[in-house]
Amino acid sequence: MDILKLPINRKNKVYIRIKSEGKFIPDISVFPLYCTCCNAPQTKLYEHLGSRYGQVGTGKCERCGKEIYVTDHDNIVESIYINNYPSNEIFFNELYLLDWKFVDEFDRLSIKNVVGKVTEELKQYDGKFITVDVFREIIENITNIKTDGKMRFITDERFSILPDDINRWIELLYRAKINIPVKIL
Ligand SMILES: [Zn+2]
Repeated sequence: MDILKLPINRKNKVYIRIKSEGKFIPDISVFPLYCTCCNAPQTKLYEHLGSRYGQVGTGKCERCGKEIYVTDHDNIVESIYINNYPSNEIFFNELYLLDWKFVDEFDRLSIKNVVGKVTEELKQYDGKFITVDVFREIIENITNIKTDGKMRFITDERFSILPDDINRWIELLYRAKINIPVKIL
């Protein structure tokens, strides 16, 4: 049984809840994996097709052939578990840098009140899902920082690949000279 497959057009999203401290939470549908048996990063991305009772699906390690079980919290996909170890919860606000603390850093730019303007713009989406691309474009338009989507990053050595929309989000943070824990490929 393999309900994970290569993503075609799926986009990662964020759920806006502007009154909360975090302002938004990631809702992730495309993700990388690694093998907890042989530690091999898997070279392909997987797609979250929706979970049932927390069961997301099973991948097969490209190197050792062992199965990689993916589970979640059966709700908005802020994190996944790889092979179910409690210590092996992968948080997407960390892996994908989808965290308001990075948006807060935009106020270090010489542009006036970026965070206030972004917050104001996001109010129309409160309680709704928007794609990471739309989220990024809102900040790009306010800051006039442009991305081209050609850069590739690694945020965690266990994973060798990130989705395109996430790389481009990270590119925006990188071009804004925000202090981020990444390796550029
Ligand atoms: Zn393996």
